[in-house]
Amino acid sequence: MGQRILLGECLPRQEYRAMYIHWGAGPVAMAADLRRQRTTVTSTTDLLVKVFATADADAVSYGYLDEIPGFDLELLYLIDANANGVTAYHHDWGPAGRERWELDSRFRLIPGDDELFEISDRGPEDLLLEGTIRCTCCGGINQVDFDTLPSHLGHDRDTRLRCHGCNSSQIIDPRFGSHVQRLA
Ligand SMILES: [Zn+2]
Repeated sequence: MGQRILLGECLPRQEYRAMYIHWGAGPVAMAADLRRQRTTVTSTTDLLVKVFATADADAVSYGYLDEIPGFDLELLYLIDANANGVTAYHHDWGPAGRERWELDSRFRLIPGDDELFEISDRGPEDLLLEGTIRCTCCGGINQVDFDTLPSHLGHDRDTRLRCHGCNSSQIIDPRFGSHVQRLA
């Protein structure tokens, strides 16, 4: 089951340039897939961005994060080449006319030693792009809540993944700084 996504890069002033992909996936699977592509195909995040943001002009579009998302779009992924990270936004349907891109989650494309969660783009049946996320603290699989909170950096929002097996959490700030709390 594919999800209709945009994948690209953030430009100044909340603008983005992104490629439409009909068979995309949710944030866990996409982040794992992008990590693998960065390691095995492009070797740098700059080149990874170029693959999606400039490859096929027909499939690439421009938009603004504060615009109402296209009717049939589910997720938007913006790669930050400088910070080696990807930010996911989901289509928040809200009341009619108040739809928007809502910050969903961030993942570092070069995993740090301190990652709380292992991610894979394969699901329980080994199906590609289903996605699995495993807590390294308690071993819980796919037991993670996603939310956001005001950033300690003083602007924008942090994203938080929290395991509801052991309550450990990993916060990623807008510069892709990571803050892990292990509780088990
Ligand atoms: Zn856990």
